[in-house]
Amino acid sequence: MTYPSTAYTARWVWCAPGDLRPGAAVTLQDGWITEVAARPPRGARVVDLGEGLLLPGLVNAHTHLELSGLAGLMPPQGDFVVWLESMVNLRPVQLRQNGPEATLAAVEYLAQSGTALVGDVTNTGKAAQALGSAGVSAVSFYEALGAAKAEPPEAQASWQGALLLASAVAAHAPYSIPTARLAALKAKAGAMPFAIHLAESRAEVEFLAGRGSEGRRLEEFLRDRGLRREDLDLAAATPLGQLQAADALDHRTLLVHGVQLTLDEIEQVAVAQASLCVCPRSNLGLTGGLAPVEALLAAGVNLALGTDSLASAPSLSLWEEMAALLAAKPGLDPEAVLTMATQGGARALGQAGRFGVLDPGAAGPLAFVPLAGVSQSEVIEAVVRGEHAGAPRGVGRDDGGKKKEEGR
Ligand SMILES: [Zn+2]
Repeated sequence: MTYPSTAYTARWVWCAPGDLRPGAAVTLQDGWITEVAARPPRGARVVDLGEGLLLPGLVNAHTHLELSGLAGLMPPQGDFVVWLESMVNLRPVQLRQNGPEATLAAVEYLAQSGTALVGDVTNTGKAAQALGSAGVSAVSFYEALGAAKAEPPEAQASWQGALLLASAVAAHAPYSIPTARLAALKAKAGAMPFAIHLAESRAEVEFLAGRGSEGRRLEEFLRDRGLRREDLDLAAATPLGQLQAADALDHRTLLVHGVQLTLDEIEQVAVAQASLCVCPRSNLGLTGGLAPVEALLAAGVNLALGTDSLASAPSLSLWEEMAALLAAKPGLDPEAVLTMATQGGARALGQAGRFGVLDPGAAGPLAFVPLAGVSQSEVIEAVVRGEHAGAPRGVGRDDGGKKKEEGR
């Protein structure tokens, strides 16, 4: 069925970096943006959202929705290996008890709070159906870990109208997967993005370098779970080196975290044109650190923003994530942070032009942030700092962007 077109307008409209338009109208039809203009087209239903900013639906480039049942149970204590241990201990029981309900609630929250696209790491594929029903587009990264033979499904993009439901391949991390398997997984990812947690903690760096007390604790943790260092057949002494040795660093690689990246390594990431997703609250909570965002931006690396899972972040709000990043790095340009949460995430997930911008041909839904008493020059900063006059929300979810009920 075809839905009537609806033109959404607001006091301000942020179409893309450097393109803030007062009072513009964004028209959606069947979930797609068909027009961005100074006035609504004739014949369209018009919805004036009023005082605030209309912008592209946000892109949460890294989370683990199926871990939502662990919310609040693992307050980060700044020790990565301790956190891994509690994850392994709590995960089976908690997720049996309340996993599905918590995942549904998490997906609904994403939709209501204005997230249009999510990069979701999964070991089960269980969140995909909830995402489709809620009208949240997703690149579901099927994650491989250790030497297990379980293979991720084929990587492919599938559109249902304006709803993207893609499957892609992820490797857990350079310290938890043998070199040859890492290479095979990257090859399997094909033309889709390939995600990997990288250089998240000091423990990871020390483990790969074969030194240091934190590296030894990680080694013991892995060995206790059946993964011995010699089984990894390590080809390099650094996280990024492992990736390069496996021929797994290119423009389709989505590095996640990057807290421990050096300036030299940042240059190599830039040359490879890989993307990096920063998860500020998770990174600060688990490791006390954050990727060198200023240096990464200066090097021209495409940056995305993610919340990570509710096992390490207090919420799935990318609005709160933006505010946390700007608070931690006050020198950053607020618009650069907003770009990470929109266009940067879309590019990292292989969806440049399809999400993260207000352009004809891009998919909805949109997002709206109520503001009060803000002048045009203050709009972006107020949005990124979280100085909102009401809860940010998704807009246009019912204009055909939801997955149609499948007959059964
Ligand atoms: Zn993760």
